[in-house]
Amino acid sequence: MKIGTPKEVFEGERRVAMTPDSALQLQKLGHECLIEAGAGMASGFDDASYESAGVKVVKTAAALWKEADIVAKVRVPDASEMKRLRESQTLISFFSPVGDEDKMQAAAKKGATVVAMEMIPRISRAQKMDALSSMANIAGYRAVIEAGNNFGRFFTGQITAAGKVPPAKVLVVGAGVAGLAAIGTSTALGAITLAFDVRPEVAEQVESMGAQFVYLDFEEEQQDGAVTGGYASVSSPEFREAQLAKFRELAPEVDIVITTALIPNREAPEIWTADMVAAMKPGSVIVDLAAEKGGNCKQTVMDEKIVTENGVTIIGYTDFPSRMGAQASTLYATNIRHLMTDLTPEKDGVINHNMEDDVIRGATIAHASEVTFPPPPPKIN
Ligand code: NAD
Repeated sequence: MKIGTPKEVFEGERRVAMTPDSALQLQKLGHECLIEAGAGMASGFDDASYESAGVKVVKTAAALWKEADIVAKVRVPDASEMKRLRESQTLISFFSPVGDEDKMQAAAKKGATVVAMEMIPRISRAQKMDALSSMANIAGYRAVIEAGNNFGRFFTGQITAAGKVPPAKVLVVGAGVAGLAAIGTSTALGAITLAFDVRPEVAEQVESMGAQFVYLDFEEEQQDGAVTGGYASVSSPEFREAQLAKFRELAPEVDIVITTALIPNREAPEIWTADMVAAMKPGSVIVDLAAEKGGNCKQTVMDEKIVTENGVTIIGYTDFPSRMGAQASTLYATNIRHLMTDLTPEKDGVINHNMEDDVIRGATIAHASEVTFPPPPPKIN
């Protein structure tokens, strides 16, 4: 079958869903590959590199959508792309089934199949297709780099002829995928790194990365959050108070705070309050990775960088993966290629959309003219 990738239409988006390398792998599955001219340029992949990998470069988006049996892209399709989606076509993309319900209904009505990349179940077998994790990993890394870019001092301590320089102190809140990447980057740069999560089982992992886990003065079992699947839920008021009290104690000491706290399908919990921001030293930096879901800090302005009256920079960018287009495209295209491997079990260029397969079923939100979201819970782990 023909799998095609258009140029992303979302303003400023640099990522592309197919790279020359992923195209080589897709061809081994028996598929033909198409790319819209210029689609990879912003991520450093020119048309010639696709052509050398056996990919047909198609001049326009319209021609690509017309020719491709399967369209692989990054962002939720916009209105013009939805118009192009047609019967029997398969679309593989981030889709936001909750926020973009109308589009999901429209896709089902057209008889198209939609695989939403954020719906890939977070189970071991599906890790290689888990685009949310591969993008969160990049976001965590980039959050530290962005913080460093806005911080006027070194991360590592130094003793120089011109004087002694103390190391920066970084606090990472939320030690999930993005948080662990931020912790690894921060310790690698030489900062004293502290990390907190409502799930104490991550303490060992945090410590093995050279960071210090922040323990609370909380009498009962510290963990009050983890539910099945390893996700956090809402903390009890007592636990939350103990957490905020600890953060208030840390606020005047830390130079950089990276917040990544997330509870699936909810607004981001407020964990860095206005009084904590006010207690921070001038020149400190907060990177709020939860900006898109309301922010872990209420002063965060989505997609912007602001400086508070007391000189604290708060960064609320929501496009960290796109800011690292080459890396993000490589990982995302690999996630798609693995998904295509599962969709093409015979490696004969023919899609077998097996709705009995937990991973394929979980991620499919429209199929055979029906909306197939939400999926039943996965049977395996
Ligand atoms: P994740 O589910 O892997 O991790 C979230 C962590 O937060 C979990 O470990 C959870 O236990 C913890 N947590 C929940 N409530 C908490 C609380 N009150 N205090 C402390 N910890 C708490 O999620 P992830 O994939 O690492 O994503 C983290 C955030 O980064 C999300 O909000 C995601 O949308 C965002 N993100 C942002 C960008 C960007 O460009 N800004 C890109 C990718 C991801």
